[in-house]
Amino acid sequence: MSETLQVRPRTAEVPLRRDSARAGNSPPTTGVSGTRRKQIVIVGGGFAGIAAARALKHSDADVILIDRRNHHIFQPLLYQVATAVLAPSDIAAPIRQLEDEQKNVTVILAEVTGVDLASRTVEASCPGVGVRKIPFDYLVIAPGMRPSYFGHDEFARYAPGLKSLSDAETIRAERARQLTFVLVGAGPTGVELAASMAQLAAITLRGQFRRIEPAQSAILLIEGGKRILPTFAESLANKAARRLEKLGIKIMTGVRVEKVDEVGVIADGKRIPSATVLWTAGVAPSPIVKLLGAKTDRAGRVSVGPFMNVPDVSNVFVVGDASSFVRDGRPVPGVAQAAIQQGRYVGRLIARELKGREPKHPFRYFDKGNMGVVGKNFAILESGHLRMSGFVTWLVWVFLHLMSLPQLQNRFRVQTQWFWSYFTGQRSSRLIPEPPSAETHELGR
Ligand SMILES: Cc1cc2nc3c(=O)[nH]c(=O)nc-3n(C[C@H](O)[C@H](O)[C@H](O)COP(=O)(O)OP(=O)(O)OC[C@H]3O[C@@H](n4cnc5c(N)ncnc54)[C@H](O)[C@@H]3O)c2cc1C
Repeated sequence: MSETLQVRPRTAEVPLRRDSARAGNSPPTTGVSGTRRKQIVIVGGGFAGIAAARALKHSDADVILIDRRNHHIFQPLLYQVATAVLAPSDIAAPIRQLEDEQKNVTVILAEVTGVDLASRTVEASCPGVGVRKIPFDYLVIAPGMRPSYFGHDEFARYAPGLKSLSDAETIRAERARQLTFVLVGAGPTGVELAASMAQLAAITLRGQFRRIEPAQSAILLIEGGKRILPTFAESLANKAARRLEKLGIKIMTGVRVEKVDEVGVIADGKRIPSATVLWTAGVAPSPIVKLLGAKTDRAGRVSVGPFMNVPDVSNVFVVGDASSFVRDGRPVPGVAQAAIQQGRYVGRLIARELKGREPKHPFRYFDKGNMGVVGKNFAILESGHLRMSGFVTWLVWVFLHLMSLPQLQNRFRVQTQWFWSYFTGQRSSRLIPEPPSAETHELGR
């Protein structure tokens, strides 16, 4: 049987709160009653969850941030881990350091497996401790997304996605096995990964094998839609396509992958043998959002109200990739800047409510623009009517990504790695980890 988790002495006796259901899309004001400290539970320590926790820094409340990983991953640079430019630790930072920076935060390493809106508790499975129930006054759901195989979960065995450090490391290990790479999906992730792999083969590995010629490797980018990079303007996507072709990547648009297995893929009825098939086609929200029983969009994301609130449920919010927020008929994209803005917005909204104030205004997304990088020296940028591409845009991309990394030490390490790899063409992260020895297994038992 599960029991209530006592996260901190001062929150241990928090009574459960049962607010009356909030009507549809009305502001999520519930008023503040009593003097006890409120408990805000945030599920997910990604961009959105951390932004929400930070926005609650000065609140008179306890914030409990739960994540099944102990680290926050800077996903926009995961593909560089997959292609050995960076090491996993360069783009990850422990979520727990938030406890150091912010006294009202408690970070818990656990997987949230249940949400009980009636008793206002979440169920969390903590490694080595078991299942615990954690009460909340406010709940912020920010679990991000996972790969979606469009109903073909059996593809996952053969075509890993790119969502975690171990996905990135699996890809790195697979790369050495075979020289034909198939990437399914030509959105920003597929394009960035394909270009980085092409450069790895043509520059970094050149001359480092006696029996194979890495530059001869085939990289196929398969896209079911009419063109690559559908979220970018067509003119920019065409420039990116030309750049990819220059790097030797074969782009196959309007082609649907029907099967993925140990031999490779079957696309539009044709077999393409490949040992390394990478899934960059689509993502679906974490399964925990289903537990809310809320209305979802076609992709399974929770259709939130104007305050990022779950309609008809008081004090429960979904932010980041797991939410579907539509304004003027246009959905807010599933990107880091949207996740950060939504997390910060909800954190501030709760902080205001705790002071007895109304929310200032519904969530408004400020689109700072969209960027994508296509190998060395070339990036594309779209912001409002502005369209840019080429070397200067790439410099902007480098600067923005360096500045967005989670800690100073990550910025310093990544900057050094990039500098080194830019001028030498070498990637310092090309180590293949040894499997644990029998002795280590014994000790671990
Ligand atoms: C390869 C790749 C490249 C990208 N490139 C860009 C880019 O260049 N620019 C850009 O703006 N965006 C990019 N994105 C998108 C961006 O990373 C996401 O929009 C952003 O991470 C969403 O933030 P989030 O907080 O909603 O989710 P995430 O950052 O995914 O965080 C979710 C967190 O929730 C945790 N979690 C999930 N389920 C549970 C559970 N049941 N219990 C406990 N914890 C749980 C996870 O461990 C994770 O830490 C990229 C994404 C990928 C995968």
